[in-house]
Amino acid sequence: MPLFHPTLYDWSKPVDSFWETQRASFGDVEAPPLHGDASADVAVVGGGYCGLSAAYHLARAGIEARVLEAGPIGWGASGRNGGFCSVGASFLGAAELKGIYGEDETLAFYRALVEAVQLVDALAKDETIDLKRQGDGVWTFAHKPGRVGELQTHADVLARIGVPARVVDASGFESEAFACAEQAGALHESVGFALNPLAYCLGLARATVKRGTKLHQNSRVTAWRREDAQHVLVTASGSLRAKRVIVATNGWLPEELVPELAGRVMPVLSNIVTTRPLSDDELARQGWRTQAPASNTRALLAYLRMLPDKRLMFGGRGDATGSPAGGLAMRRVLTRRIAEMFPGFAGIETTHSWRGFIAATRRLTPAIGELPNDPTVSFAFGCHGNGVAFMTWAGRELAKRIAGTAGALPAPVNGLPPRFPFPSLRLWQLRVMLARAWVEDTAL
Ligand SMILES: Cc1cc2nc3c(=O)[nH]c(=O)nc-3n(C[C@H](O)[C@H](O)[C@H](O)COP(=O)(O)OP(=O)(O)OC[C@H]3O[C@@H](n4cnc5c(N)ncnc54)[C@H](O)[C@@H]3O)c2cc1C
Repeated sequence: MPLFHPTLYDWSKPVDSFWETQRASFGDVEAPPLHGDASADVAVVGGGYCGLSAAYHLARAGIEARVLEAGPIGWGASGRNGGFCSVGASFLGAAELKGIYGEDETLAFYRALVEAVQLVDALAKDETIDLKRQGDGVWTFAHKPGRVGELQTHADVLARIGVPARVVDASGFESEAFACAEQAGALHESVGFALNPLAYCLGLARATVKRGTKLHQNSRVTAWRREDAQHVLVTASGSLRAKRVIVATNGWLPEELVPELAGRVMPVLSNIVTTRPLSDDELARQGWRTQAPASNTRALLAYLRMLPDKRLMFGGRGDATGSPAGGLAMRRVLTRRIAEMFPGFAGIETTHSWRGFIAATRRLTPAIGELPNDPTVSFAFGCHGNGVAFMTWAGRELAKRIAGTAGALPAPVNGLPPRFPFPSLRLWQLRVMLARAWVEDTAL
């Protein structure tokens, strides 16, 4: 029984994102549906960054994997996100992480986050993937003066691991990035950039096929049984037998198939709109001068970037139903937020509006590892809306763990997080969280 409205789990429905309108231009990926009985060393469930990166790195280690994806490759968050390739994967700030895990493990986590961005860059170079890259670095702007301090803490942690980051005041941000009615200074991290998420995902898929791995799209796993020491994953038109399974389904986790993971993910909807292309005069009204992606410090985050054809992409969170009416309401909310933050863009129509799941965990950090009661099943989930780089890294870590070449995971991401209490009531818990976030955001 899905948590959200059933339309969000309709794999036959193409994603209505702006990126999807460009899919044909990114070239084909060989990924026929699974037909008949097949076998592999490792079965990967989920054809997003995590599953594809796992399969790609397994192939490089000489281990045969097959990927089963319920929809077209990249149907999940990996084909429809905002394209921030940036440092992050947790809802906890640096100070909170240090308080829980200590200085060393927090720094180890940050090193992994930085390495993740570098990994995407390196994959693109090694495999000649055209990421449609934009901007150098990533901005985070404080939506009110009281939030500037945490940007400095974040910058200090990055400095400790050798990553240049600087905090600028409101006028400094305006002179480097854009004018915004709601900003009190900003952090610029030198590591990170914007990319086209679907172009990256399909490029990674092609690189994985080139390494000899078979991908099967439109091949949803509907049943999973154990036969002797093997797993058998069943789809509508075939079955895949494997010694090991990687569950790489993030916010679309099929809980009925993996009871050990049930209740450990909180899917949260993230929503995006894009405007029509803006004219140079319109861009000048907000003094737009950056291609780098930017987000703010609100709990109900605003994240935005100017796309190559000068459309504003603007994202945020807030719907806890997933119904079609909820989607329309979020489109109105985001359109209103654009006008509030950027008065010079008020009244400019939005051409595309879509949403998808990010995944949170109860400990507010990602989860990577193997099931305690069955180490032949690996998982990675819960990157809290920051998975372009980090889920690529997580997939590589899972591959290394299977190949026996992995080091220790940073403590914040190691192993299973606790279950949410009363998992069937998670939507109500989410509604409470969203209401709290709204109060926090509106408080002075
Ligand atoms: C609107 C939005 C904006 C975002 N913006 C950003 C951003 O700017 N930067 C950033 O870093 N992160 C962003 N994220 C988060 C990021 O996209 C995700 O963290 C990342 O894509 C997760 O990758 P994944 O491979 O783990 O999961 P997904 O890409 O979600 O892939 C999981 C796949 O599993 C498949 N699946 C599920 N059940 C089955 C089954 N039974 N059988 C077979 N397949 C199955 C699904 O169809 C899906 O394709 C955003 C997410 C959303 C939704």
